[in-house]
Amino acid sequence: MNYRDALEIARRNPGFSVTRGDDDGFIVRRPDGSLFSEQPSAIDETEQLRHEIEMVRKHHDEALALWDEERRRSDSVLAGREAEIRKLQMELHKEHQGNLEAARHIEQLQAKIAKVSQAEWEKIKADEEQERKVYAKAMKEERNVVKCACLGEVENCARCDGRGSYTTDGYGNPVYA
Ligand SMILES: [Zn+2]
Repeated sequence: MNYRDALEIARRNPGFSVTRGDDDGFIVRRPDGSLFSEQPSAIDETEQLRHEIEMVRKHHDEALALWDEERRRSDSVLAGREAEIRKLQMELHKEHQGNLEAARHIEQLQAKIAKVSQAEWEKIKADEEQERKVYAKAMKEERNVVKCACLGEVENCARCDGRGSYTTDGYGNPVYA
């Protein structure tokens, strides 16, 4: 066999050694000195093992790749969820700010209404007071001549002083000029 093949066999079988053969090729000897035959059956076992190891490694690599892909997928899903949550939080915050603003606005309006009502109430009171004053003035200025109950027969009558009639204001109070 050629040097490369012989070396490969020796490498895979600790204790095996490579020497030059008679026919210009190379041979492999077992630790006990016996010649290692290159017959397929002899290396089958090693090859089989190597193949099995290869398969196991391949499965392992595939599983790892799958797992990695799954992890990346769930990471991206998670990132998406987080972005969604952040968006919702921002919307909530905005809505909350909006509510605060609305509440402030309502408060301002209520204050304005209260002020207007107060002003109007003051005006109503002032108008009533004015009306009352005008009415009182008119009543005080009103003059009615009333016939006295004494019919002028009581000489020193407190009301008519014996004149039989006296003057009153609108309230009926006697007025003495
Ligand atoms: Zn009288």
